[in-house]
Amino acid sequence: MRQKIISGNWKMNGTLAETEVLIRALLAGISHQERVRVVVCPPFTALVTASRLLAGTSIALGGQDMSPHEKGAYTGDISAAMLLTVGATHVILGHSERRQYHAETDQLINAKARRALDSGLTPIICVGETLTEREAGRTEQVVGKQVDGTLSGFSASDLKKTVIAYEPVWAIGTGRTATPEMAEAVHCFVREKLAAHDQAAAEAVPILYGGSVNAKNAAGLLRQSNIDGALVGGASLKADEFLAIIRAV
Ligand code: PEP
Repeated sequence: MRQKIISGNWKMNGTLAETEVLIRALLAGISHQERVRVVVCPPFTALVTASRLLAGTSIALGGQDMSPHEKGAYTGDISAAMLLTVGATHVILGHSERRQYHAETDQLINAKARRALDSGLTPIICVGETLTEREAGRTEQVVGKQVDGTLSGFSASDLKKTVIAYEPVWAIGTGRTATPEMAEAVHCFVREKLAAHDQAAAEAVPILYGGSVNAKNAAGLLRQSNIDGALVGGASLKADEFLAIIRAV
């Protein structure tokens, strides 16, 4: 059975004080759940604080981005080694906000994912279409290209260490969620694409859904057979809401 993952993407939210309050509330409310891997991804400046609070607990830590380079003259960037130093195990790559505001391409995301895997981090690679693309009937074309591009050169063993997040751009932070059926259809399509790389690995890759997931809609989405968890933005900033999504698994 594929591992279920609920990951919180805090985006550019979380001073040190806010980080401490939120993590303490999560730890107070979480029960040990073997079947769910919970990951929180605070901003870089809060990683050390989060790491100290999470040490020895069941909640894992992730970054929201990282450089494809090992180290050197890349002002403002964070390396895989730096994420590992603070105890991160996961890293979100190719989020639509990175694609939109930082012009990230599939090729760059692929290089970042390669570096993450080679460094022992689990990449959570985001794909998803815009509203215009969906309305033009191009969802599969767009998502298929992103999957192929970001996973280019991956072996079966690389795939087995990778997580995909399908996040329709029109559903992110808008309160507009894909219906469970709409999401499941794209998740099935992504899994078929992965199967073209390697059948066994395709069955093993967790595919998360992201886009306005909350305590109310989580159960319906997570009941779908190809939805293996959620990448949660806004609702991951509210402990009660995030804990309810975890419980929905
Ligand atoms: C996200 O940032 O990955 C996300 C899905 O955001 P939200 O849950 O707020 O739509």
